[in-house]
Amino acid sequence: MRILVTGGAGFIGSALVRQLMNHTDHEVLVYDKLTYAGVLSSLEPVVSNPRYSFVRADITDPEAVAQALTDFKPQIIAHLAAESHVDRSIDGPGEFVQTNVVGTYVMLQQALGYYRSLDDQAKAAFRFHHISTDEVFGSLGDEGLFTETTAYDPRSPYSASKASSDHLVRAWGHTYGLPILVTNCSNNYGPYHFPEKLIPLIIIRALNGEPLPVYGDGTNVRDWLFVDDHARALQAVFERGTPGETYNVGGNAERKNIEVVRAICAVLDRERPRADGSPYADQITHVVDRPGHDRRYAIDASKIRRELEWEPTKTFEEGIGLTVRWYLDNQEWWQTIVANSYATERLGKAHARD
Ligand code: NAD
Repeated sequence: MRILVTGGAGFIGSALVRQLMNHTDHEVLVYDKLTYAGVLSSLEPVVSNPRYSFVRADITDPEAVAQALTDFKPQIIAHLAAESHVDRSIDGPGEFVQTNVVGTYVMLQQALGYYRSLDDQAKAAFRFHHISTDEVFGSLGDEGLFTETTAYDPRSPYSASKASSDHLVRAWGHTYGLPILVTNCSNNYGPYHFPEKLIPLIIIRALNGEPLPVYGDGTNVRDWLFVDDHARALQAVFERGTPGETYNVGGNAERKNIEVVRAICAVLDRERPRADGSPYADQITHVVDRPGHDRRYAIDASKIRRELEWEPTKTFEEGIGLTVRWYLDNQEWWQTIVANSYATERLGKAHARD
């Protein structure tokens, strides 16, 4: 198959592309604007593969999207391009509306025009797959899980923009008959994760001997999924999922933020003990909470397990060990980012009510 991956230079997109290059015969076109979050070196392992190609372009540019569709003629559009960091959405929500809402609208309109130009056989094979987040469902109390039918209740500019794009995608399915798929996934982690996100941020700051900032009391809960398991889920959905359906994807690995930070410190204590022999956990410091910080997210992934026989292959303990070791072994990848585009400073406080 030919698969157009928007946002393929990002964290999850690049994991998907590396997987498709290494484990399938599919052809891939990465369509990416290369914002601060687009990191071409994450695609370095696949650049010489003849089944891989790249175009630098913006999803909000209708002509550029139309051109890529006409030239590449994809069977699958895996739409991952987005602004993805909640803290940045607090400081600058406009970019999130533009990229996530308007950009998805442009992708849908262009995909529909392209879809209508296909013959019946090609139409039957075509899928527009929107990659979304569990954050659209809002915040849970101590009990319960998000299912595919949980009502939407987004609370941050990021999750509101993703909820909007999910609604647009379903509307293009219902109204125009575009064969769409939606996946809502929990928090990902793993290699090539941009240093602004909790897990790489903590690893990098720990190695630099800096304070490890934990928002509030550290008891907010997220369900963590190793990124390669997410990439396998995406492939299962666009290859075998039923058009019009939504699939929740999760790791069944709920952890409090403070537990995540302590788990990273424990791996580092073993793998790269501090020179003074004291534990990395001594660097933990609690900082003022994120405004509107959702309490708990947790996913019921039984539908994708049952219907597509997907399940995570890594426990959180295995995944966090692999991830910490990857950051130890690939310092050049993240040191370039820290030196040039993001120096691990605090984001997302600009409009805090307190
Ligand atoms: P990321 O921020 O690492 O990557 C986003 C990519 O999109 C970058 O390569 C960037 O250059 C590109 N991009 C941004 N704006 C663009 C534009 N206007 N035109 C073309 N390309 C553009 O994001 P990620 O963490 O890999 O997330 C990918 C998708 O998965 C997003 O849609 C996100 O909402 C969703 N998601 C993420 C998580 C997570 O834990 N990271 C969980 C569930 C869902």
